[in-house]
Amino acid sequence: MPVQPLPSIDAIEPYKGGESRLPGFDKPIKLASNENPLGCSPSAKEAFVKAAEKLALYPDGSAAALREAIAARYGIDPARIVCGAGSDEIFQLLGRAYLAPGDEIIQSQYGFLVYRLVAQQCGATTLSAPDKDFTVDVDAILRLVSPRTKIVFVANPNNPTGTFIPFEDLKRLHAGLPENVLLVIDAAYAEYVDSNAYSSGLELAAEHDNVLMTRTFSKIHGLAALRLGWAYGPAAVIAALNKVRGPFNVSAPALAAGVAALSDMGFAAESAALNARELARVSDALTGLGYTLTPSVCNFVLVHFAPGVAAAMDQHLRRHGLIVRAMGAYGLKDALRISIGAPSENDALIAAMTAFKAAA
Ligand code: PMP
Repeated sequence: MPVQPLPSIDAIEPYKGGESRLPGFDKPIKLASNENPLGCSPSAKEAFVKAAEKLALYPDGSAAALREAIAARYGIDPARIVCGAGSDEIFQLLGRAYLAPGDEIIQSQYGFLVYRLVAQQCGATTLSAPDKDFTVDVDAILRLVSPRTKIVFVANPNNPTGTFIPFEDLKRLHAGLPENVLLVIDAAYAEYVDSNAYSSGLELAAEHDNVLMTRTFSKIHGLAALRLGWAYGPAAVIAALNKVRGPFNVSAPALAAGVAALSDMGFAAESAALNARELARVSDALTGLGYTLTPSVCNFVLVHFAPGVAAAMDQHLRRHGLIVRAMGAYGLKDALRISIGAPSENDALIAAMTAFKAAA
């Protein structure tokens, strides 16, 4: 009998990231993974290169310098931060620390796919709360809470919908949860949101024993290649995550680049400003062409098509050297998620989508 993984593992459909290669195109335009079109801060790159001088040495397993830099930036306690190889790793650690077979997690209908993969890995079940207008519905989530619920995952704003719930709703969600349910607020796109009604959830994580906020360096800081994320929450939750993580889970170059990125918030501000301009321009242009968009506060937009048209559009864009993200894995086969790129990339997108309409 050959070696066999656990049946729960065997059943997993692995996460598929955005593609980056397109036959026939040397440099396809990749608008499929919500990456930063400006790259990263020159300081972060410099720190990364400098770290190459010490590749023989293990990183600081406690990530002390980065936790202190994060703590100083956000005015929080460094002892209540844990760093991970991307926020993806933090979600894996949460599963390891808190989920067993028979447990349940709750997420929104179009919640980020990784949460359910984590649950599956642990033999736990995912309950999905229907969205309202492609937006997280707090009451629908609260209706699903049972004695089996261990974690509620909310991405705010959410990928792939691009929508957010106001801080008032986030507080109401927390207030409606039993104290033994952990609320994980995934604020991967927090820096792009320009609304007074929004909060990353940092205040909730500061005050409550059952709230954890996760963040990433992959988006606004443009360090997706390095895999760097962090979580802030109650001491007991951070202690549990520290027990299940690898002793050197974040590489030294990533730690160094992260510290440098936080010292260059000008780059982050520039990234947010460019995105705000281009998001508005792309959204207006596509809406003007008659496409249906879910209004987004992120660095991507979800575009909806008549049945069957999304696949044809996907193929059409590929023929024009553009890679966007198909949404079948989210149950949104009639939609495409399109990242906001550099102005010239967005021009190419708008031109190709204009041509599609003209040919229709
Ligand atoms: N959360 C959300 C909502 C995301 O869209 C992503 C990236 N696609 C992540 C978390 C993971 O980010 P990373 O692992 O790169 O930190």
